[in-house]
Formats: sequence, structure tokens, C-alpha cells
Amino acid sequence: MSKLTGKIALVTGASRGIGRGIALRLARDGALVAVHYGRRQNEAEEVVRQIEQNGGSAFSIGADFSTLNGIRDLYAALDEELRKRTGNNRFDILVNNAGIGQILTLEEATEESFDEVMNTNVKAPFFVIQQALPRLADGGRIINLSSFVTRAASPSVFAYSISKGAINTLTLALAQQLGNRHITVNAILPGIINTEMNAGTLQNPAGRNSAAGLSTFNRWGEPEDVADVAAFLAASDSRWVTGQLIDASGGSHL
Ligand code: NAD
Repeated sequence: MSKLTGKIALVTGASRGIGRGIALRLARDGALVAVHYGRRQNEAEEVVRQIEQNGGSAFSIGADFSTLNGIRDLYAALDEELRKRTGNNRFDILVNNAGIGQILTLEEATEESFDEVMNTNVKAPFFVIQQALPRLADGGRIINLSSFVTRAASPSVFAYSISKGAINTLTLALAQQLGNRHITVNAILPGIINTEMNAGTLQNPAGRNSAAGLSTFNRWGEPEDVADVAAFLAASDSRWVTGQLIDASGGSHL
């Protein structure tokens, strides 16, 4: 039996990048995975196909988190699919991964850019969690995607780093609140990972050099480097770990 056999996971933003890596990994460990996507249904269905080809189980759910209607859409679809499969709408593991990057200094930011990054990276996960709580099984898991930029001043991604700082605080507060239900709440702080979010940086030699140089291992990360940490946090091995902000950055915070 695999570590997550019988568990159900919802991974937001799992159509590509880190979320995709986490969805593939949790499915490999035996979980039934709800692969959420924002806009790109084809990519999400491709992730589901890949999971099924590897002998796992998954389904996709589309919902745009730009407004709270999207959160309602997410749970309406999830409830319907889970009731069909299990007779109720309980699930065990929530991975709050969907988010946007934003390379803007304090001076360059506008009200619109500020609202966009806060709505997607803070408001959406806040309400995804609020709506998850009545559905999440006792002994479950919440895993939030933060960033290594919360470890040091990061002027080139000013508002983005503040949005991830809010995720750190949310993680601590929630871990304390959910202890009585034995739900663990932790955040992963990735360094530079090879995803579409960093396509601009990683496509030119200077960007590649500086991305690799941030890590003490002199390379940037791959989605699997983060997914393996998520797999630990999702499994019973991590039952005594809660309220932790875990770097998966190859030492970039050093
Ligand atoms: P990505 O751009 O490759 O994927 C982002 C995912 O979020 C996509 O599936 C997209 O559909 C979803 N998403 C974005 N906006 C959405 C919206 N309004 N509604 C619904 N879904 C939406 O990004 P990634 O690099 O895989 O990043 C995943 C998470 O990891 C993010 O929270 C990001 O901030 C964090 N992170 C990434 C890095 C990195 O270097 N890539 C580093 C640290 C933290």
C-alpha cells in the first residue's frame, strides 16, 4: 500500500509548474487528486491523463480565482465530483499552490498591480482555506506555497514578497487554530524553480546565471524538488510537524 492510499487531495493551480509536479507526486503516492486549473483546461486534462497512465486516479476542475465566484465554482464542482465517487464531499489534503509572480519594485507598482497580486496570492487562498475547513477530514493536511523571497528583502518583487509574507502568517495562525483537529498546516518556501513563472529569467544567459547563483548548489530548482517536500508534508511521516515554513530553495535564503 502506498503512503497516500485512500486519501483525497486538492491541488490548486495544478495544470502546470510546481502544482503539476505536486499533483503527479501525490497521485504516485496513492492519493486521488483533484487537479485545479485557472484557464488552461487542456493542460489540466493532460496532467490527469498522465496520472491515469501511471496507474493513479485524478480529475480536473476549472475555476478562476480572480473573484470569489471562482472559489464557489471550485467547491461546487469538487463537491459534485466527490459525491459521485465517495458519497460525500470530504477530502484530506489541500495544497494552496495557485499564484502569480510579479516583478515590480515599490516605485513601479500601481493600485491595479497591487490588487492583482494580493487577490490571487492572498485573498484566494484565504477563502479556499475557509471553504475547505468544513470539508477537510480531521488529521488532514494544508500545504501553502510561499517563497524564499520572504526570508530577505526582495525589492525587485516588492508586493509579491509581501503577499507571500501574508501566507507565512496565515500558515502559523491556522496551524495553531487547527491543532485540535490534528490538521497540520505548513508552508513550502521554494527558491527559483524552472516553471513558466520564471520563463523570462531563465531564457537568457545572465538570468540563468543569477538564478543558479542564488542557490548554494549553484543550480535552479525543478518542480520535483518542491513536490518531494510536499509529499512528505502530505504523508503521515509529518504528523508531528505543523506551523513550519520550510525552505525548498537549495539554500537560496542563506
Ligand atoms: P506557474 O505560473 O507555472 O503556475 C501557476 C498556476 O496557478 C497555474 O496552474 C495557474 O492556472 C494558477 N493560477 C494563477 N492565477 C490563477 C487564478 N487567477 N485563478 C486560478 N488559478 C490561477 O507558477 P509556479 O512557478 O508553478 O508557481 C506555483 C506556486 O509556487 C505559486 O504560488 C508561486 O508563487 C510559488 N513559487 C514559485 C516559485 C518559482 O520560482 N517558480 C518560487 C517560489 C514560490
